[in-house]
Amino acid sequence: MERVKKGDDVVVRSGKDAGKRGTVQRVLPRDNRVVVANANMVKRHVRPNPQAGVAGGIQEREAPMDLSKVNPYCRTCDRGVRVGIKTLEDRRKVRICRTCGESLDS
Ligand SMILES: [Zn+2]
Repeated sequence: MERVKKGDDVVVRSGKDAGKRGTVQRVLPRDNRVVVANANMVKRHVRPNPQAGVAGGIQEREAPMDLSKVNPYCRTCDRGVRVGIKTLEDRRKVRICRTCGESLDS
C-alpha cells in the first residue's frame, strides 16, 4: 500500500518549502516522486506559441519532489506524521497515523 496517494493532504518536510501543506496532485510511483500543489515551484521560460494560445514569458509550476520529503497530514495531530498500515477485521487495509493512531483513510 502506498504511503501517499493522489488527493492526500501532505506536509513538506524539508527543502525550501519545509512546513508547507498542500494536496498531492500526482504520484509518480516509478520515480518515487510526488507533485504537491504549490510546493517545489520552479520557473519555466516559455516560448510564445500563438497557435496554442500560449503567451511567452516565465511560468511557475510544480516540479515533482521526492516522496520521502513529504508526510501525510493528520487532522488530529495538525501536522505531518509518519504512517503505519493497519489491517481491519474485514481485511481492508487503512493507513494510520503513527502518532495518534487515527485512520488517515476515511
Ligand atoms: Zn495523528
